[in-house]
Amino acid sequence: MGRLGFRVALGCAAVSCAIAAALVGRRLRSRRQWSRAVELVREFEEACATPVGRLRQVVDAMAVEMHAGLASDGGSKLKMLLTFIDKLPDGSEEGTYYALDLGATNFRTLRVHLGGKPSMILNNKVECQPIPKELMTGTIEELFNFVALTLKKFVQREEKGVDQISDNTKDLGFTFSFPVKQLSVSSGLLIKWTKGFSVKDDVGRDVAQCLNEAMLKVGLNMHVAALWSGQALLFMQFETIVLRSKQVNDTVGTLALCHYGDEDTVAAVIIGTGTNACYLERTDAIIKCQGLLTNSGVMGFEKMISGMYLGEIVRRVLHRIAEESEIFSDAAQSLSAPFVLRTPLVAAMHEDDSPDLREVGRILEEHLKMYGVSKNAKRLIVHVCDIVTRRAARLAAAGIVGILKKLGRDGSGGVASGRTKGKPRRTVVAVEGGLYTKYSIFREYLNEAVGEILGEEVARNVSSV
Ligand code: ADP
Ligand code: MG
Repeated sequence: MGRLGFRVALGCAAVSCAIAAALVGRRLRSRRQWSRAVELVREFEEACATPVGRLRQVVDAMAVEMHAGLASDGGSKLKMLLTFIDKLPDGSEEGTYYALDLGATNFRTLRVHLGGKPSMILNNKVECQPIPKELMTGTIEELFNFVALTLKKFVQREEKGVDQISDNTKDLGFTFSFPVKQLSVSSGLLIKWTKGFSVKDDVGRDVAQCLNEAMLKVGLNMHVAALWSGQALLFMQFETIVLRSKQVNDTVGTLALCHYGDEDTVAAVIIGTGTNACYLERTDAIIKCQGLLTNSGVMGFEKMISGMYLGEIVRRVLHRIAEESEIFSDAAQSLSAPFVLRTPLVAAMHEDDSPDLREVGRILEEHLKMYGVSKNAKRLIVHVCDIVTRRAARLAAAGIVGILKKLGRDGSGGVASGRTKGKPRRTVVAVEGGLYTKYSIFREYLNEAVGEILGEEVARNVSSV
């Protein structure tokens, strides 16, 4: 080999060594990156642990707070709001009723024809549409005018063009998914907007009256006979309540509907955009003579459970991983936008059972602009979805059992605890809301945890529908 050849060979060897060193360095770095990401997820998982002992503490705390909330306003972290409902439908109701559900995400109009005993819903019609984004931050007049107009069109379609401006004012059941201080069965003052709504200057206004004014303005001859504040629900509940000219929370609607078909129903829980619950309380237990409905005012608790927040929790964890490791390459940027990852997307990624996690990849690309994420990183993302969902479902389960404990239906002691003459009493809890109904893994985790907390024997007599 000549001098030149030798130099070239030496140069090549040096380059090879440099490349090899770079490769090894990169591999080491990437291994370090990967282990940092795994470490972060492990820490997060530990912080989210919900062993049954901890869940039982939540159950106890919930029952204690409920007692306190019944004793005085502001005496508890739970807002215990009175609904003014003293009786639930039993299936004997008859007639045609209209109702309206203004949720945080969707807006539903509904007509139902009830045929009397035994719990006959002869027919019902529901129309659902998303609430236009701009109305979430406008004025209450704009929001309610839209609602009244949509309802008017629905009624006209249902009544086949019959003019609604007639002598007979129709009763309307109005489910309003935000906290309201009920004044009577058909009126209530808005406490605050939640779940992404920030309608201007309306705290303290009577929402039923606002809707009545809007209906008058659009020429719809209806008035709110029953107002339900709170969050989420199933469809037909309002009209059964309307039948009794009552004003209720949408959780009360769920309770009413379920009770309409099954008189063993004792409580209703909504797990949708927000989380909320209601149950029937003995009047003498309402010491402050004011509170009944448990509007889950513990925002920290609600934030760990509700559909509005789960996607955001996952996003924050992924963002931290992206910042502290490079396993998502340069995707950190899109992950920094709050609420860019919605809960239904978390559900879709979690439920992706394709071998190459195709759906996860699609969502990352389409919604987060994260391209070329490795399969292992996708798996890690699914694991984060699982941690967040599992904690949420298990805490929701503890909240439900907390209510059962308050009602003495948790099997923790004698007759008052759900046993009559030695036999456990059948107990039904109505559960509604998009997170629960549309996210099967969430549902499974929740039901599993209820079983774990209550124990097999008691759990056998508790069903959620
Ligand atoms: P609202 O709470 O607005 O009255 P819903 O009870 O229908 O309405 O709940 C809607 C919420 O449920 C959404 O905000 C979302 O968080 C959650 N959700 C909807 N679809 C799914 C899904 N497929 N998987 C998980 N969560 C979902
Ligand atoms: Mg709703």
